[in-house]
Amino acid sequence: MAIASAPVLVLNQNYEPLNVCTVRRAFVLVDRGKAEILENGRGYLHSPTALYMIPSIIRLIYLIRRPRPQGRLTRRDVFLRDRFTCQYCAKHTKDLTLDHVLPRHRGGGHDWKNVVAACKPCNHRKAGRTPPEAHMHLVREPFRPPFSFYRTFYPYLEDQVEWRKFVPDWDFDGGFA
Ligand SMILES: [Zn+2]
Repeated sequence: MAIASAPVLVLNQNYEPLNVCTVRRAFVLVDRGKAEILENGRGYLHSPTALYMIPSIIRLIYLIRRPRPQGRLTRRDVFLRDRFTCQYCAKHTKDLTLDHVLPRHRGGGHDWKNVVAACKPCNHRKAGRTPPEAHMHLVREPFRPPFSFYRTFYPYLEDQVEWRKFVPDWDFDGGFA
């Protein structure tokens, strides 16, 4: 049954988003008393003897302490962090490049604080210069994401409307193209 593999948002006991699991896994966690259903977005599942709420969001009963995975630096994650918006002209586009704010040949690192999404015209215009040298300004200072929300949760948020309030920094107006 397809619904058994539908995604369920798993929140920590303190309501922080932890993970995404399947409906099947969520049933197991709830059945074992490890989680409670917080939102039931998908109606009910009938068995011969009972009626089960199909969860959309579950919350763990006990707080899980674990080191947060760091957001990895991939093109896609940078574009997601920057919301598919050129960080120089603010144009929203999927035709983006990675720009090193301080160019690599000037010692700029390939890290979250020095890499931004840039449209091709802006990247071409900036070329091997720093933003001040090119008379260009960043829309927003690049930052290291606190958590890999981009990879873990954002791909679901277009469809899973009820998840959005638990996932920080989701832009309700813009979303992702
Ligand atoms: Zn641009």
